[in-house]
Amino acid sequence: MSANKSKNTKPELILRKALWKAGLRGYRLHQKQLPGRPDIAYTTKKVAIFVNGCFWHRCPHCNLSLPKTNQPFWKEKFTKNVQRDQAKQAELSKHNWKVLVIWECELKRDVLAQVTRIKNLLGDIKKYEVEQEDFLKAAEEPQTYGKKQP
Ligand SMILES: [Zn+2]
Repeated sequence: MSANKSKNTKPELILRKALWKAGLRGYRLHQKQLPGRPDIAYTTKKVAIFVNGCFWHRCPHCNLSLPKTNQPFWKEKFTKNVQRDQAKQAELSKHNWKVLVIWECELKRDVLAQVTRIKNLLGDIKKYEVEQEDFLKAAEEPQTYGKKQP
């Protein structure tokens, strides 16, 4: 559908690796049923992340100039890309999703800062992990319970 939106780009892989390391796992990739097919989606938390290439998606930080030839063509193409991105993000927001766009240049500058942004959006994911751990501990306890009592 959108030819310029390629999956598993290098910035995307870098971010996924960092998220995995940070323990922010359990994300889904390129979910077809979600508007805009977010690169990364935490479905239970309703957090959608788009990793956008600065050139195709017209990064506001980089403010890249148009290619020298065929400018009207590029101008129209980029305008459509940006409009489509905005429409998809608005659709997600309407369904109570939190949407985060991470630009390629932001990832290049500081991957961990982006991981922190995602962590903040996910909010209480740590609590969930702790609960899981407690559950496992509780399951182990009956075998050792009381044995160390004098
Ligand atoms: Zn950029």
